[in-house]
Amino acid sequence: MAHSKDFFYEFVEKSYIHLGQIKNYKNNAVNDISNVIFLEGNKCNMLIDTSGSTQTAKKILENINAISKKEICYIVTTHGHPDHYLGSTVFKHRRIKFIVHENFNRYLKTRIKRDLINQGFDGSDSLLYKFDSQIPVTNSKPLKIDLGDRVIFIEALEKSHTNNDLLIFDQKNNLVILGDTFFVGHVPIVEASINGMINVTDKFIKNNYSICVPGHGPVSFNCKKDLLKQLEYLKLLKKDTLEKIKNNSNLVKELDNIGWTQSHKWDIFDMYHRSNISRAWKELEWED
Ligand SMILES: [Zn+2]
Repeated sequence: MAHSKDFFYEFVEKSYIHLGQIKNYKNNAVNDISNVIFLEGNKCNMLIDTSGSTQTAKKILENINAISKKEICYIVTTHGHPDHYLGSTVFKHRRIKFIVHENFNRYLKTRIKRDLINQGFDGSDSLLYKFDSQIPVTNSKPLKIDLGDRVIFIEALEKSHTNNDLLIFDQKNNLVILGDTFFVGHVPIVEASINGMINVTDKFIKNNYSICVPGHGPVSFNCKKDLLKQLEYLKLLKKDTLEKIKNNSNLVKELDNIGWTQSHKWDIFDMYHRSNISRAWKELEWED
């Protein structure tokens, strides 16, 4: 497989991204839908997410080797969804440390089989995806990694998109990689907590990042604008859902009502918006 000049592009000096396709998981044998990033340091490289298939991950490895002479020393998994990390098996037997959220292994144990089956994969080989040589990141203590004249901080986020989301911050470029706690173009996906998604989005806005990389969609060089757009969607979803709950409506009746004024603003909106409503509803109906 020859490397392609277009597979990765350098969006900031020594920072490369492969943009995933904007698609659902299903019927997607190649599973190349999530963004894959690698950061080059003077000592070694950090890979962030590995795509959703070994086929794509092999391409990732070939293309990194064509761009950089340095080894990959760390792989960061932004969260445990299959489209972001199933490709990791390709890197498993190398001398690479896997950086994960402290909840990651628990998530794998309880959710991976269901996720795999729901998304059209074979669930029987789920143990393949458990890595050795892990570095867990705890909620209380960000991890600091020096790639050689390039210091990277990795922080565990509160329950938001999932219960195991990581943030990767490159101080030198004021660049942040946010996994699926940030979406550009692609409709946001709320899986674990609508309140958590709102909190982290608020926090990202306050941090005044220059460049923000989403888990799906293009790199944002105007973080504030794109984060505010995400916040608008999330806040409307929360407000409308709370209102319907207070009016004693029911979820099934409201799936085609809540938040649909946002539909023209996002890609593949109808694929995820109803499940976002369901998740927000289940969380918010227990609030006072
Ligand atoms: Zn995800």
